[in-house]
Amino acid sequence: MIGQPLIFTDLDGTLLDHFSYSFEPAQPLLSYFDEQQIPVIANTSKTCAELIHIRKELNNSAPFIVENGAAVYLPKKLFPECPKDCHDDGALWRYEMSRPREHWLNLLHSLKPSFQSLYTSFSNLSIEQLVQLTGLTTEQAERAAKRQFGEPVLWHGNREDKLLFIQAINELGGNVLQGGRFLHVGDAVNKGAAMQWLKQLYCDHYPNTEFQSIALGDSQNDVDMLEIADHAVVIASPTHSAPKLKRQANLNHSKAYGPEGWRETLIQLLEIPAQALLEREK
Ligand SMILES: [Mg+2]
Repeated sequence: MIGQPLIFTDLDGTLLDHFSYSFEPAQPLLSYFDEQQIPVIANTSKTCAELIHIRKELNNSAPFIVENGAAVYLPKKLFPECPKDCHDDGALWRYEMSRPREHWLNLLHSLKPSFQSLYTSFSNLSIEQLVQLTGLTTEQAERAAKRQFGEPVLWHGNREDKLLFIQAINELGGNVLQGGRFLHVGDAVNKGAAMQWLKQLYCDHYPNTEFQSIALGDSQNDVDMLEIADHAVVIASPTHSAPKLKRQANLNHSKAYGPEGWRETLIQLLEIPAQALLEREK
């Protein structure tokens, strides 16, 4: 592969094991990338609060993308000057690709009389209820609850009412995404657009370097970034079939699941010498 790689990766089921959330098999490779200054950029549906926690565990200091492409966070250490249109957020810059959660809460409020009894808004769930619904620990649920750009709702109504609800949101300029448990009300963001924005920022920041984006993901919400990355890697899942892509060029499918597959395909793609990893496995 020619050029400097920028690795954009989904977390759950991709870098993290679907069941145990372990990234152990990818650990030596993460440490190699760190040393080689190859950024591993998390691109996930998780919140900023969740990401800050997970990046510590991964010993990762790269930029990251949250809430399915709603915002990009950039460490000031890597980008000392505020990039265009970014907001100051402590040690980070924040680039927003979505309107804030407040906007969507107000919009839901304006629809209240028609749909109020048919769903429970994320903001009305207690942390205990969230723990029960998701199986997260209390601390994890607290971080997951800190959504900034959209509002998940738990639908209790029937299918017809759900379609009316989606239509009403669409008419008010919003988008509804069906997730595993929740309907996500927000802007029509996606992981691909956020990835492109960040790649462009790297290109502007280092005009003499040619960057190559590598995207890795296992699910439907990864398709946008997998289609437009310079190289795409579909990670095999133990629970669902691989998302179908239109592209055929520069596309790899892992054989192993999750972090094992992550490791296997990146070693192959970037032709990483076995010796470089052996030293880290001792
Ligand atoms: Mg995933």
